[in-house]
Amino acid sequence: KKKIAIMTSGGDSPGMNGVVRACVRMAIHMGCDAYCVYEGYEGLVQGGDLIRKMEWHDVRGWLSEGGTLIGTARCMAFYERPGRLAAAKNMILNGIDAIIICGGDGSLTGADRFRAEWPSLLDELVSKGEFKPEQIESFKHLNIVGLVGSIDNDLSGTDATIGCYSALARICYAVDLIEATASSHSRAFVIEVMGRHCGWLALMAGVATGADFVFIPEKPSEHNWKEEMYRIVQEHRKLGKRKTIVIIAEGALDRQGKKITPTMVKDLLADKNGLGLDTRITTLGHVQRGGTAVAYDRMLATLQGVEAVKAVLEATPETKTCFIAITENKIIRKPLMEAVQDTKQVSSAIERQDFDEAMGLRDAEFSE
Ligand code: ADP
Repeated sequence: KKKIAIMTSGGDSPGMNGVVRACVRMAIHMGCDAYCVYEGYEGLVQGGDLIRKMEWHDVRGWLSEGGTLIGTARCMAFYERPGRLAAAKNMILNGIDAIIICGGDGSLTGADRFRAEWPSLLDELVSKGEFKPEQIESFKHLNIVGLVGSIDNDLSGTDATIGCYSALARICYAVDLIEATASSHSRAFVIEVMGRHCGWLALMAGVATGADFVFIPEKPSEHNWKEEMYRIVQEHRKLGKRKTIVIIAEGALDRQGKKITPTMVKDLLADKNGLGLDTRITTLGHVQRGGTAVAYDRMLATLQGVEAVKAVLEATPETKTCFIAITENKIIRKPLMEAVQDTKQVSSAIERQDFDEAMGLRDAEFSE
């Protein structure tokens, strides 16, 4: 019987439990044994009871649970070859040569590296006397498929990552709550949302809540953002708006590549010689990440989980490591490392302060 392992890795996101449920059940449906690796790569490296066989009923009710019930972790050991060697040994001990990983681009890069290294890891295990050649005969190839779990929607090549719409919904809900009190007191609020390298959450939250101004890493506003924001907020106030909402991504930058902080924005809105608004800062933090997944993420987790099991069963030594994307509402397989490279290109354009290029690259992604 083929044995397939499922794990979650890196930052958690709503929908990861839906992924695990779908993969476990699809694997069983396809006549395979399903295993869960607990605590991300740490579970592979340590083995033991962190690798557990799962039955159909073990994942009952998981669609409506937030976070990831099998745990996730950042694992330093997996960055080093000895850690990956221990992981390979534990997989063989459990009879597993196929893994589905749900995580961000870091986790997926690690997975691709592991797969590429697999034959040499096996050789090393044999030369160290851990296994006899005949014991690893049927483990010659490692099949890995990635699923993108991230609240930031920060991987190129897919329209939505699992969890991003849940985080967006949570932000919108929080902004609605803030708006009521802002309006009552005629106040301004600077709301910081997650997104270190990717402004998708901030931008879409701005659209969805009708915010007055948005700061994102990819496209800093005019050369003088202070003047621009001042003018726009003032115009809105003149139109009779009793509240001002400015949304700022964690990684917001100005045209010179310097960080724009919520305090800088607050000081400007509150400046007695300028707008003079009673201004507060709200950092949404981990409420954006927690909680249950919205319907869209449950649907995505389920459909992509099913596709991931099919992909891992159909993978051959010749096929590139793939991940499951959604493009124009279709669930499809795509080469993993190309998407990771495209994502890196956007980040490096931002680092070089080539914001127009960064924005162009993200646009290309939308129209792909
Ligand atoms: P995310 O998957 O959310 O991007 P990280 O970048 O922290 O999060 O990656 C999660 C884990 O994946 C790391 O702690 C590490 O164990 C593994 N990993 C990430 N990048 C690599 C890599 N280049 N080589 C090996 N393992 C990696």
